[in-house]
Amino acid sequence: MPQYNCLKCPGYCCSYPVIALTKRDVERLARHFGISFEDARALYTREDHGHKFIMRRKPDPHFGRICQFFDTTLRRCTIYDARPYACRDYPGEGRCGYYDFLMHERRCQKDEDFVAVTNHKD
Ligand code: SF4
Ligand code: SF4
Repeated sequence: MPQYNCLKCPGYCCSYPVIALTKRDVERLARHFGISFEDARALYTREDHGHKFIMRRKPDPHFGRICQFFDTTLRRCTIYDARPYACRDYPGEGRCGYYDFLMHERRCQKDEDFVAVTNHKD
């Protein structure tokens, strides 16, 4: 049973600078949007950090930048069924370190909506 609730989180993991996609992930995105593999690759990914495909990002008021598929108002993934394997797998069945940190800060600050920000090097 997971010890975290993504619905109470502002989506910290979606702000990681490197979210690597596999070829199958890009194929899934292409199918989801009804476009070619090449178009999906060019529109949604870029080659960097030693990976052939990493997720393109966009500005975010909390974390600076975040995955382009993240709804920055609702704080939700907009392609949940077509999300890459890395997103499906993270953070596993146990705990999420950011969630533990966030809950601790919200308790300490007595603010249910507090968003804990850590700096990613980008
Ligand atoms: S940082 Fe943790 S709790 Fe927040 S959305 Fe990601 S997995 Fe869920
Ligand atoms: S695809 Fe969805 S779950 Fe994955 S990083 Fe982007 S917004 Fe988050």
